[in-house]
Amino acid sequence: MEADLTAKNDRIAARNRGWFESREVLALNLVSSPGAGKTTLIERTLTDLAAAWPWAVIEGDQQTDNDARRIQACGVPVVQINTGAICHLDAQMVVEACRELDPPRGTLMLIENVGNLVCPALFDLGESAKVVVASVPEGDDKPEKYPYMFRAADLVVLNKCDLLPYVPFDADRFEQMTRQVNPDARVIRVSAMRGDNLEEWYAWLHERRTAQSSGRRAVSDATQKQEETNG
Ligand code: MG
Ligand code: ZN
Repeated sequence: MEADLTAKNDRIAARNRGWFESREVLALNLVSSPGAGKTTLIERTLTDLAAAWPWAVIEGDQQTDNDARRIQACGVPVVQINTGAICHLDAQMVVEACRELDPPRGTLMLIENVGNLVCPALFDLGESAKVVVASVPEGDDKPEKYPYMFRAADLVVLNKCDLLPYVPFDADRFEQMTRQVNPDARVIRVSAMRGDNLEEWYAWLHERRTAQSSGRRAVSDATQKQEETNG
């Protein structure tokens, strides 16, 4: 039953991925435990980079549109999904949100998943990359406790680093543990609230967005070549 469910989700996610690529949309799936600061990171990013390229945001929460209203205040198209009893977003929910958002070519789409470090790791949304947001007050052993999520991450943003002087959190130990479960993961230390080191996060966004559109160009070049060969 559960295998059927994830297989069906994977098929829809694969279609989403193709759709995002065809529109050169960089879609990022932001996952974290509740309260790690995903919405604050998104708000701050939109405030600083709103003019850089088109944006769209999908907000996932069990209840309320509190976060969507915060994003709306930044002047960016946003759809709130309330999952009710369900503790993660799935690929079909993203299909419906995208229908409503209709993102223009080159959009950077931020998908804020339901705060939960467990099953969002199992549900592919078709995103271009998964970003795990961890935060200093949560403790530095999260990568060891939730290895599936950290293994799936393309990037780990360690948030609330302004609190490092006040809590027993060893950031080096956290990075080491992250590398143990995921040798390729990059860790960026920030404070979204205070604005510390966000340039590194913005540079990563920039890099990934460029890679997404040049990847698309590489694919269409290859298709054209193929057509020429066949033709
Ligand atoms: Mg939120
Ligand atoms: Zn769930």
